[in-house]
Amino acid sequence: MSMFAFVTCCLLCLCHAIPTSKEAKCGYDSCNPVKDDMINVHLVPHTHDDVGWLKTVDQYYYGARNEIQNAGVQYVLDSVIPALVSDPNKRFIYVEIAFFARWWREQTDSMRHVVKGLVNSGQFEFILGGWCMNDEASTHYNAMIDQHALGFEFLRQNFGECGRPRIGWQIDPFGHSREQASMFAQFGFDGLFFGRLDYQDKNHRLNTSTMEMLWHGSPDNLGTQGDLFTGALYNGYGPPGGFDWDQFSSNDPIMDDHRLHDYNVNQKVNDFLEAVHDQAKHYKTNHIVMTMGSDFQYQNAHHWYKNLDKLIKYTNMRQTTHSSKVNLLYSTPSCYTYQLNRANKTWPTKSDDFFPYADREHTFWTGYFTSRAALKGYVRETNAFSQACRQLDAMAKLTDSDNSTINIQVLKEAMGVAQHHDAVSGTEKQQVAYDYALRLANGRNECQKVMNDAMRKLLPKEKEGPAAMEMKYCDLLNISACTLTEQNKEFVMIVYNPLGRTVKHWVRLPVIGSAYSVLDPSGNTVETQMVPLTKRTTVIPERKGHIATSELVFQVQIPALGFSTYMVKMTQGKKKLTKSSNIRGFVGEPFVMKNKHMSLKFDGKGNWEKLTDLHSKKSINVTNDIVYYNGMPGNCSKGEFQPSGAYIFRPNGTSPQKWTGPSSAMSIVGPLVDEVHMEFSPWATQVTRQYKDEPYVEVEWTVGPIPVQDKLGKEVVVRFETGLNTDTYFYTDANGREILRRVRDYRETWDLNQTEPVAGNYYPVNSRIFLRDEGTGMQFTVMTDRSQGGASIHDGEVELMVHRRLLYDDCKGVGEPMNETGADQQGLIIRGKMYLHLGQTLDTAKFHRDFGLKKYMAPIPAFSETNMKYQEYSATYNTQWSGLKRELPANVHLLTLEQWGGPTLTPSATQPYLIRLEHFYEMAEDAKLSLPVTVSLQDLFATFTIDSIEELTLGANLAKASMQRLKWNTMDGELITDKDKNVYKVENRQKLEGPLDITLNPMEIRTFQVNLKDGPPRQKVDRFTVFS
Ligand SMILES: [Zn+2]
Repeated sequence: MSMFAFVTCCLLCLCHAIPTSKEAKCGYDSCNPVKDDMINVHLVPHTHDDVGWLKTVDQYYYGARNEIQNAGVQYVLDSVIPALVSDPNKRFIYVEIAFFARWWREQTDSMRHVVKGLVNSGQFEFILGGWCMNDEASTHYNAMIDQHALGFEFLRQNFGECGRPRIGWQIDPFGHSREQASMFAQFGFDGLFFGRLDYQDKNHRLNTSTMEMLWHGSPDNLGTQGDLFTGALYNGYGPPGGFDWDQFSSNDPIMDDHRLHDYNVNQKVNDFLEAVHDQAKHYKTNHIVMTMGSDFQYQNAHHWYKNLDKLIKYTNMRQTTHSSKVNLLYSTPSCYTYQLNRANKTWPTKSDDFFPYADREHTFWTGYFTSRAALKGYVRETNAFSQACRQLDAMAKLTDSDNSTINIQVLKEAMGVAQHHDAVSGTEKQQVAYDYALRLANGRNECQKVMNDAMRKLLPKEKEGPAAMEMKYCDLLNISACTLTEQNKEFVMIVYNPLGRTVKHWVRLPVIGSAYSVLDPSGNTVETQMVPLTKRTTVIPERKGHIATSELVFQVQIPALGFSTYMVKMTQGKKKLTKSSNIRGFVGEPFVMKNKHMSLKFDGKGNWEKLTDLHSKKSINVTNDIVYYNGMPGNCSKGEFQPSGAYIFRPNGTSPQKWTGPSSAMSIVGPLVDEVHMEFSPWATQVTRQYKDEPYVEVEWTVGPIPVQDKLGKEVVVRFETGLNTDTYFYTDANGREILRRVRDYRETWDLNQTEPVAGNYYPVNSRIFLRDEGTGMQFTVMTDRSQGGASIHDGEVELMVHRRLLYDDCKGVGEPMNETGADQQGLIIRGKMYLHLGQTLDTAKFHRDFGLKKYMAPIPAFSETNMKYQEYSATYNTQWSGLKRELPANVHLLTLEQWGGPTLTPSATQPYLIRLEHFYEMAEDAKLSLPVTVSLQDLFATFTIDSIEELTLGANLAKASMQRLKWNTMDGELITDKDKNVYKVENRQKLEGPLDITLNPMEIRTFQVNLKDGPPRQKVDRFTVFS
């Protein structure tokens, strides 16, 4: 019988036996039985399917370009399903919904019915259930939540409760974030397993049987709500040596016919039992888990299952023939977790994170914190774009006929794919990086249509008024390129603010004129300043064809969740409305940049000297430079020959190379902004900038093309040396949220043998890094515009790696050096910003929490040509508009506002919305803003009225009231201090005053499905039909 005939036959005959959802027995009830008096070996058949790495996500799905890597995910699913149907004992887990959704779309109704049956019986289980298995170092929490919620929504719509994942499965990411653990706990997960942890940490944990623990994901804020049972896998995520039975493996199958040569059953079972005992002695219970699979395995599932069947049969036979106490079973991570919980042990705990990760002495995976810095910036910026698009769609109540659901889905899926641990991490091949960027660009284009449709409804003053203009978005403002502002003498700019509070924001528009009139939403003239573009900007190859000569600088003010309109007109020849800037070189005279908050003194050559907080009148000595490490070359043949590459940071020496201060510097002074331009080298330049009244100093770095003619790769760092006494401590954020204290050359849970004094002290910086001087009470904070690697290699110093170009592959699989060459193939130029603040520690949270939010959700400008006069325009269109009737409190962020196809707990005639509200301060960070806060949703939104709300879990796939998690006994049960007792007592919600009053504790995110009185009609769109 051919394979095809066999499959068809089995599927047909078994269709009737598949239980319907009413008789579903998924979850812990569906686990295969264990034997309590034996070592139970949970064999977990699995495939690890990267959502893009060496090939693009679609090449992986189809199995195209197999000369790069033999991998085709469609065949995995095609092959596994009939194997499961043929035997109810078999199990399989599936993880990456970006792939599963692609496959599901192709299936017939009868195949879908079969798969649902397997899900309902627990044979086929979704684990993790995100759109991808996201990176944990360079991802932002907002995008992480979204990518999981996207996968969860697919699963819920197609599989209901039995499709709801219960376990986190981060088997491949290169280091693990505490915020991720906290998030999983809030999804309602019962456990997390991962494959990679520092080799010293792993040795210590193996020796002390602490590979499995309870991880406090949010020890200081959410307490038990952030606790998650966590296990480090024994063997990465592969099978024990000799037991890889994938189709191309060279490991021997089990040969069990005595009549044939090479009978090997006894040998195989002996070897396997040895592997079992080796592993079991390091774990606490009589259960161990073995991951039977690896990257893109099970394309021919029969190879694996046939041999696993024999392994189970012959090993378990020893129970009767040899009184063996080892019991093998097909299992899943959730069934394994359930047995660990049943064992009723007391578990160790952990309160820090699993960064940085090293797999041997000179192999620290800290390079990817910065790799592909341009892509990292693009992913971050696109997050704000995606939020704004969904907010506008919701507030304008767009419907099916606008096609907005599908258009938004394109960007959601592109963002989902981009969070993968070989995407935003920068560890993919170049052609795959281009594919990620293309998907994001396509998604943004689709969302621009939605935003235009929304503005068509929100702009006109009269419902029957003229159609709004087509707005254009400028994605290259960071390199002063925007065709519309460059080529038009008159245009209108509409700036949208995705935050729930009024914000002020500085815009810089690339223009060709020397003077412009700018009118604000009320028709008043806005003060403007012209700053000329320098050659450093005009020669950027990606600007080719753009003609701007200057930037027009002015400040805009935008109401909460709303927009403001500014009319811009060139006034060449008339009276000059725009202030020009005074430009001077440094010729030995010091220069002071100063506003009402901070002053920065430069010496006569343009070097930084002294930074002063004008509120506390305290100063620190501070120097700043751009320096670089030469990346170590090597061929990996020995540990000491480990080169720097896409994953690995290994500098050739402990001190960076530096130039002797800026080789040239000039100051640009005007009424709105002062700048000092410094050139450390022709390829490493910086603008230090201070805007009027802003409590920070901006540092705009431009790095590249990094020269490699000397055959040395380079890793470029922006460094600040302060006089602060920091005593080895520095602080970094986890995924843009909670702050962790870092201690140089130290790990909290084991005695570190530091073998890489620079790379081994690098940590992911998603949004901020800071230094504190306990003596003076001063804090020096650096905010970033994207994820970067950061460290404090000496007391008082902060360094952030901004760009890297390397000439060797680091032998972690990508097979390419990390060598981005840019549009002209000469070496990519990257530009980004940092924001510096000096203040008293007690006052600083107020700055960095608020400012961090303003940066990651920065206002989005859009432009249109017009020759309407202000009076005509303002009579026709709203020049200013807010989607909120009142502003949100100063410590609350509207994390999510979107139309939602998800759970319909209470049926409603209109489309439900999803709302997430976040308290974005930590406990005790600020005397006032860290307190619990209550927000009322009553009459909050301008365009819709809330009828009812229901609270969901953070992943929005379950009613919060239905969330039940396993409970675990911990060793620190007795050790909780008085402070901890308060910390853990998080259920201090104030008595709710009304049904729409939401109280938030520090760092709490609450998720609600909202039914509207006057929402758009319920949409029946299968949004999972488009893929990007
Ligand atoms: Zn992977």
